[in-house]
Amino acid sequence: MISSYHNIDVPFDYRHTCWFCGEPYFDSHAFMAVPNYDNQTLPIMLPCCQECFSFANAIKVSSLDLLRDKVKQQLHKKYHKHLQIGVNWTKEELESSEMDGKALEGFRISGWKMFEIAKERVNYVGWPINIDGLPCYDVTTTYQFEYDGIIYTSLNHAVTQLAALYAIPQPYLEQVIELVGRDKMTYALRFCKTTYGYSPAELESSLASLRALLAEEQANAQPSRRLMQEQRKVALTDIKQLMLYRTIISPYAIQWALERGIQTLVELADHEEVFFEHFGKDSELTAFTYFNGLQIYFEKRELDPLWADNDDPNRALFK
Ligand SMILES: [Zn+2]
Repeated sequence: MISSYHNIDVPFDYRHTCWFCGEPYFDSHAFMAVPNYDNQTLPIMLPCCQECFSFANAIKVSSLDLLRDKVKQQLHKKYHKHLQIGVNWTKEELESSEMDGKALEGFRISGWKMFEIAKERVNYVGWPINIDGLPCYDVTTTYQFEYDGIIYTSLNHAVTQLAALYAIPQPYLEQVIELVGRDKMTYALRFCKTTYGYSPAELESSLASLRALLAEEQANAQPSRRLMQEQRKVALTDIKQLMLYRTIISPYAIQWALERGIQTLVELADHEEVFFEHFGKDSELTAFTYFNGLQIYFEKRELDPLWADNDDPNRALFK
């Protein structure tokens, strides 16, 4: 028997520091998975500061990722008041604030420092877990969630902390994020903070108005998105020039419309301005002639669907 535990490799720059939070070394926590799904044989020794050492010793989990997350959550919990300083103040505001009284004066001087230390500790990433030069444990950061420069162990952890911080009912914040998406935390928090009242009826009506707002935004975004999606390349050589009612319908105009998914008079009218912007650069008259031709063409197709389906030389391009 060589040894009854595994020491993890400690890179030179990280000597005498805590793997969890970067503070000075105190003692090593012997990590043993409980339940032991991966058949871990020996404890893995993790360098800890005094605080993380006592957190880690009280935690029983099945993986190192979970251990790290639980320790970080303890740090978040213990230092939430310090972390809050950065939410409520900027460095400049704090320095220039005129607080009276000895206690407040102390806070003014050390407040930002306390915030920065707490933030560094919860955000600290440690170093890769190697034993005798070999990677032995892939500690994932996939589930972490960052908001306002602070890393949370998961979206759920962030929601719990932020709901408490802003005195928002947690299930309500969860529902709002569900609606707006996890990448819009700022929006979700602002919406929740400006919600009028937190009674069940008031929350339900706020959620209903948010749903309506989002539906409206989506509807407004749709026409352009549809046209963007339908934007395709149509070769000029595939388009036949045609003459209708003594008017030449320009293949250039037809190409412009087809490439933008414009196939009806109404759609053309909706894009009149863009059309003139596009063709008017060369000559106003050309733009007008092209537009007039396209109108006649689309009108013919709408009024005479038989012709459109069977005799229009460009019928294959209209789908
Ligand atoms: Zn630590």
